[in-house]
Amino acid sequence: MATNTPAYRELLATCTEANAILVAVSKTKTPEDIQALYNLGQRDFGENCVQELVEKQQILPSDIRWHFIGHLQSNKVKYIASFVHLIHGVDSEKLLKEINKQGAKNNRVIKVLLQVHIATEETKFGLDEGELASLLNHELLLALPNVSVVGLMGMASFSPDMKLVEKEFSTLATLFHHHKKNEEAGYKMDILSMGMSGDFKLAMACGSNMVRIGSLIFGARG
Ligand SMILES: *Cc1c(COP(=O)(O)O)cnc(C)c1O
Repeated sequence: MATNTPAYRELLATCTEANAILVAVSKTKTPEDIQALYNLGQRDFGENCVQELVEKQQILPSDIRWHFIGHLQSNKVKYIASFVHLIHGVDSEKLLKEINKQGAKNNRVIKVLLQVHIATEETKFGLDEGELASLLNHELLLALPNVSVVGLMGMASFSPDMKLVEKEFSTLATLFHHHKKNEEAGYKMDILSMGMSGDFKLAMACGSNMVRIGSLIFGARG
């Protein structure tokens, strides 16, 4: 399905007004679909499959900022380490260390977000509050100079209960501000990535400054 240009423009205006970065989630969409949105000025794109991301990156313009938004396996970091702009879903020390290793090999610092588990569903990945606090450890992070934690990411429950979704977003925003206030050497709390097609307005109202939106722009995925 082709890009919904009016929906995209409206979304972009909403994001600009709220000072939020719009990541266009292009998973399963063709390079032509991505190029069409690129031609409208979009530069941030999100993918959740390593192989698909690598194939698209090779043929699409080099100034695209590629966001990896899925669950990343440690053994696949090497395929995207040379070019990925931001990895959203980091939820273990093991993965953080592997990203650091591959960052060093590629002579760059790779930016990441730590994923926090805020949904009631058990299937969603992410850290709990305690695990988050122990990963935001000054000594651990200073020992990993080729990975840079720049914020948090979370996914709310897939639920029509907007009170529940709001509570989950607020929980994440509170954690974000708490760790921002106590920011120490080794990490930054600049980016709060939360909100998708169905809940981005609520996410922004709760303080999100980066939304990841697919179906609203590209139409439903088959
Ligand atoms: C697919 C996906 C999105 C986008 O979902 P839409 O409902 O199509 O906007 C956002 N974030 C993550 C992590 C995703 O996997």
